[in-house]
Amino acid sequence: MTNPLENFPKIMRWSERVSSVLGLNPNLFTGPGTNTFLIGSGRKRILLDTGQNSEGYVDLLEQALEAENCEIEGIAITHGHIDHVGGIEAIRERFGELPVYMWTKAQEELAGKVPRDATHLADGECLEVEGACLRALYTPGHAADHLCFFLEEEQAIFTGDNVLGEGIGTTVILMQGGDLGGYLNSLQRLLGEKPAALYPGHGARIQQASDCILDIVDHRLLRDRQILSGLDQGPASIHSLVESIYTDTPKFLHPAAAQSVGSHLLKLERERRVVRVEPGAEPLETEWKLGG
Ligand SMILES: [Zn+2]
Repeated sequence: MTNPLENFPKIMRWSERVSSVLGLNPNLFTGPGTNTFLIGSGRKRILLDTGQNSEGYVDLLEQALEAENCEIEGIAITHGHIDHVGGIEAIRERFGELPVYMWTKAQEELAGKVPRDATHLADGECLEVEGACLRALYTPGHAADHLCFFLEEEQAIFTGDNVLGEGIGTTVILMQGGDLGGYLNSLQRLLGEKPAALYPGHGARIQQASDCILDIVDHRLLRDRQILSGLDQGPASIHSLVESIYTDTPKFLHPAAAQSVGSHLLKLERERRVVRVEPGAEPLETEWKLGG
C-alpha cells in the first residue's frame, strides 16, 4: 500500500489563495509535519501557524514568499501546541516584528507559550488581506485555546488539530488541557458551518468535509461504547482498558491511547455514567466502574 504522506510536497499550492509550507517536523503524530499556510492573493499574506522551529523551515518559508513575490502581513495561530507556535520567534527574527493573532485567554494551559505581545482574537473576529477573509471560530477541546478559521471566499475551514488529514489517525485529546466533550461540541460547530473543504493542520486538503467530521464523531462515540462495555465486565484501570480495546495498536502507542481513554472517562464521569473506584484519585491511578 502506498503511504499518501510519503513525499508530501514541501511547498504546495492548493488554490488561488492558499498555499502551504511544511514545518519540516514529520513524526508519528504530525504526519508529514505541520502545515503552515500562506493565505491571500495579493502581495500581503496571512501566515497561519508556524511549525516547530525545525532546521530549514524559515529558509523554506522565505523561498515560498520569494516564489510568489509576497510578504507576511501577520501571523495567525490555531493553538499553543509547540508544533504550531514553535516557529514564531525565528520567523519574527527573519521577517520583522509581525503581529501575532490567537486566542490568548486560556492562560493556565498556555503558560509561557503565548508571545507577550500577541493580540487576542475573539470568536467571530475576522482577519483580512487581499483575496481572503478569515473568520475565527473558537473551537476548544483538543486544546483550550483552539481556533479554527473559516475562509469566506472558499467556504473552507482551516481546522488546526481538530481534524487531521487522511492517514494521520485521530487527534489526541490529552487528559490535561484537552476536553473531549468540548471537542465533540467543536466538531458540531464545524459541521454547522457547512464547509466545502477542510485544510487540516497536518496532511492534505479534505474535500468530503462533512463526511470526514461525521466519521470522527462516530469514532469517538464508538470508543465511548467500547469503554462502557469494558467496564460492564467489572472495574478496570485505564491501562487494562487500553490493553483490551487497542488490540491492533503497537505497544509504543499505548501511552497516547491511555490519554485518549482517560479523556473519554473524564467525559463519561461528567455525564455521570462512570465513577472512580477510589474517589478523588488520579485518573491513571485508580480503577473505574459504571455508575454515577
Ligand atoms: Zn495540537
